[in-house]
Amino acid sequence: MINFDLRNKKALVTGAASGIGLATATRLARCGAVVAMNDLDTNDKLTAEVARLRGEGLKVYSAPGDVSQSDSTAHVVSHAVNLLSGLDYLINNAGTPGTKSPIPLDDFDALTPAFWQKMLDVNLLSAFWMTKAARGALMESRGSVVNTVSISAYTCDGSSTAYACAKAGLVHLTRHLAKAMAPLVRVNGIAPGMVNSPWECSFGDQEEYARTAVPLRRIGQPEEYADLIVFLATAAPYVTGEIVVADGGVQL
Ligand code: NAD
Repeated sequence: MINFDLRNKKALVTGAASGIGLATATRLARCGAVVAMNDLDTNDKLTAEVARLRGEGLKVYSAPGDVSQSDSTAHVVSHAVNLLSGLDYLINNAGTPGTKSPIPLDDFDALTPAFWQKMLDVNLLSAFWMTKAARGALMESRGSVVNTVSISAYTCDGSSTAYACAKAGLVHLTRHLAKAMAPLVRVNGIAPGMVNSPWECSFGDQEEYARTAVPLRRIGQPEEYADLIVFLATAAPYVTGEIVVADGGVQL
């Protein structure tokens, strides 16, 4: 477990009502940062989790909104920057598989135009719109960005071709943003393997998967990914444009 002194630091985490985003917001806040937690305004869990963390004495705020649309990202970011009086760390973590079970690679009919667009909007373009909206505040603070990618960017085993291609695009977007915002702002990403989260898409028996496919014999906990995100955001001053894979060795 990582503990940094992040007092006076300000962070915005997307997809923060659940899983990796919730664990990251919690870790940042426990290290002393003030955190704006974003999720869909239709997700009641956001209000509940913000209230729970505030009850623990943590300085967290709610910054709801759909990060897949450029106009609402401008609103989410300006709301968060006003609440926090600035921004040091942007964590682009929101994502969706858009399907309850994996779509076979040869099922081209399932990959409708609307499905492709949703995958690209939520899993790729959201990171661009959010970073664009936050660029001024991040440049001012000499802050950093961390994007949550996926090992599906490198394999053909994700929830769908469209999701995997969006995440592959996010790998390259991370590199482009890193070069575009250097030297003032660093931009990195993490690529999780399977996560023990309420993720909408089920891949079947997780214990069986861990036993047969993961060299470290277990799936990753949200808190483990959160620690990596916090490390890249706050404590890796000479690292930019990189994606750290955390998959228990699945690709070995
Ligand atoms: P999760 O479902 O627990 O959390 C994702 C959160 O994102 C949800 O609270 C959801 O409401 C929110 N969200 C979705 N669309 C949004 C939007 N348009 N605007 C704002 N919020 C939105 O899942 P998780 O496992 O914690 O996933 C976090 C990230 O990790 C995602 O980017 C996902 O692609 C990535 N990832 C997950 C897995 C996995 O196995 N679960 C594996 C690799 C990568």
